[in-house]
Amino acid sequence: YVSLRRRGRNLVGLCPFHSEKTPSFNLYPETGSFYCFGCGAGGDVITFVRRIENLDYMEAIRFLAQRAGLQVPENEADSGLSRLKARILEINRETARFYHQILISEQGKPGMDYLLGRGVTPKTIRHFGLGFAPPSRFELVDYLSRKGFHPEEMIQANVAFRSSTGRPVDRFFSRVMYPIIDLRGNVIAFGGRILGDGKPKYLNTSDTPVFRKSNGLFAMNFAKNSAGGGLILAEGYMDVIALHQAGFTNAIATLGTALTVEQARLMARYTGEVFLSYDADEAGQKATARAIPILRGVG
Ligand SMILES: [Zn+2]
Repeated sequence: YVSLRRRGRNLVGLCPFHSEKTPSFNLYPETGSFYCFGCGAGGDVITFVRRIENLDYMEAIRFLAQRAGLQVPENEADSGLSRLKARILEINRETARFYHQILISEQGKPGMDYLLGRGVTPKTIRHFGLGFAPPSRFELVDYLSRKGFHPEEMIQANVAFRSSTGRPVDRFFSRVMYPIIDLRGNVIAFGGRILGDGKPKYLNTSDTPVFRKSNGLFAMNFAKNSAGGGLILAEGYMDVIALHQAGFTNAIATLGTALTVEQARLMARYTGEVFLSYDADEAGQKATARAIPILRGVG
């Protein structure tokens, strides 16, 4: 976050919390604390992570633990559930990697043509980790099996389902894939848009032990860092991506559902101002009319 130089017992660098040309940000290794003589920001490592990553206290603890490779006791009666959650997050990360590799390969050409045709740049594709689910029904399942995951875990993660013959099958195929990432940087779900006329047009991950659709917000992992001037609530994944690419990095979207109170509360943690950017058609106007009282309700 800050490049530091040694000065005596301390380390100094340019403060990430205000704009400056000469370093007034001091790090004190002996006490594990920091202080900026320019803007007065100071505290310990948790304060630092909370401020720079815009996290609450527990999220900052988990963020640090994750980076250090430690497990935080979740106080969950069933430690099996914690293990399952961790496995699902690993599956999701591998799955996102798999879809992205397919997208940038020859096999992903239909997805790449769609995205480039909509004006999405290769840089934006990388930034959002976009992907393509191939038309084969078994490619992801085979890939995850080779990585040591059990079909039951893939089904729990909702990236696969069991066919009538009992064989696990990829849940997403022939779709452009949008990973949903939480505030700690975990891939928690996917949205998939079909290419062509198949149905449904959008298919999202159902609720899993690590994901509830009613509180997911697409691109909130990026938008939280630029929510100071308000958040833009857009209608869909592609609207959000286009807005970010145009410099509006505070744009987010719900996951194909109407705005919920939980989502509004999450937004209220980062800003008091939300701009609604729904389409001007009838559906968009209805969604706007529904969203306004929910947003008012949480302040
Ligand atoms: Zn400062």
